[in-house]
Amino acid sequence: MTEILTRLPQLGQWGGTDELLAIQDQQVGQLLRWAAASPFYSRRFGAGVPASRADLLALPLTTKQDLRDNYPFGMLAVPKERLATYHESSGTAGQPTPSYYTEEDWVDLTDRYGRKWVGMDASDTFLVRTPYALMITGHLAHASARAVGATVVPGDNRSLAMPYSRVVRVLHDLDVTLTWSMPTETLLWAAAARAAGHRPGTDFPALRALFVGGEPLSPARRRRISEIWGVPVVEEYGSTETGSLAGECPHGHLHLWADRAIFEVHDPATGRTSPDGSGQLVVTPLFREAMPLLRYNLEDNVEVSYDGCPCGWHLPTVRVLGRSAFRYSVGAANVTQQRLEELVFSLPVQDEVLFWRAKAEPHRLTVEIEVPDARRDGACLALAAAVREEYGIDADVVGVPPGSLVPLHLLTAVHDVVKPRSLFGADEDWGKALLYY
Ligand code: AMP
Ligand code: MG
Ligand code: ZN
Repeated sequence: MTEILTRLPQLGQWGGTDELLAIQDQQVGQLLRWAAASPFYSRRFGAGVPASRADLLALPLTTKQDLRDNYPFGMLAVPKERLATYHESSGTAGQPTPSYYTEEDWVDLTDRYGRKWVGMDASDTFLVRTPYALMITGHLAHASARAVGATVVPGDNRSLAMPYSRVVRVLHDLDVTLTWSMPTETLLWAAAARAAGHRPGTDFPALRALFVGGEPLSPARRRRISEIWGVPVVEEYGSTETGSLAGECPHGHLHLWADRAIFEVHDPATGRTSPDGSGQLVVTPLFREAMPLLRYNLEDNVEVSYDGCPCGWHLPTVRVLGRSAFRYSVGAANVTQQRLEELVFSLPVQDEVLFWRAKAEPHRLTVEIEVPDARRDGACLALAAAVREEYGIDADVVGVPPGSLVPLHLLTAVHDVVKPRSLFGADEDWGKALLYY
């Protein structure tokens, strides 16, 4: 395992796609032997255990439904004692999508996450602001930062113990240098920072970069986040079932970690898969023993390309449209969140628009933007014109006062974290008994 670990500086030294295929082929046999130990794949393999890439590619895709049907341990390929962590992915409330990893699987996981061109070392203070509960994201970033000696500040975004006011305090007072969150979080921090009397671009001089992932990010929103905080935004694409799948190069492209997984693109219309092009991303992680996944359909809409990138990494690039490639019809137009986001964040920074929402009805598109009074008319006119230009429809663009979409109290509230208690004094609120959170 250790000898195959390749950190960023080496990525550019490969000869190209052939070498990538060779790296994959070296591991395929091992992976298929691991998979044969899982009840799910041993059933699927039947009599003969597949051994080669061609055998692998002849297998049916593994679906999210397969994972749910085999909840919790139907895909377990090692003795349970060897498990290090158990996770479930976000989304669907009813049927959990489980994934689990051994300590050795974690070496590959943390290594993949750690491939950031900005780099991280012992001098960094790293705020992890993604969930720790069940999902992998918080633990992944945490473990990866610990592995290089950084100081981790575990700031779970789903914990009541960490309201936005506390995030801002921590970012500011601890001289946080790097962060990990969804892109939307960084905009909420910006609003919370301003509410606390700080200027995001100047009052956080230690900040070096914002690591983001977990949701689609249009180029305009990325530029805006970077402009507001005055640091690079470094994107990442991954999932709880797979860990990090792609990371950003210094040229702003997402590259698939194709030395660690085999990637395919699936066209649901024809049922065919190919190495590149547009469709759903299918992934076969090469270095996981606890829960091998063979040709797992992530159901994310992507575009994969093997055209070279100026960074020289020799890894395919991916554009992630996510599941939000979903289109809503308004008249003859097909409206997507991605395109609307691009238009909203193309408004000038002086309009101070951080938050928006839109409703697509069969014959009407309503867009609300939070915008200060003084900029309201101009911003609404400009956005309406941009929507008309893009879609040929007259949208109702409504400027609402800051605080309408994201209430100010959410950004400023301080939340007491207390321990459970049953005895209260005369002046105390015993309504808080036991329900301490
Ligand atoms: P989860 O499995 O709950 O960890 O969420 C993973 C999902 O988040 C992926 O399958 C994608 O749909 C989405 N996602 C993660 N990173 C990105 C990204 N950089 N761009 C777009 N979508 C993303
Ligand atoms: Mg254990
Ligand atoms: Zn590149």
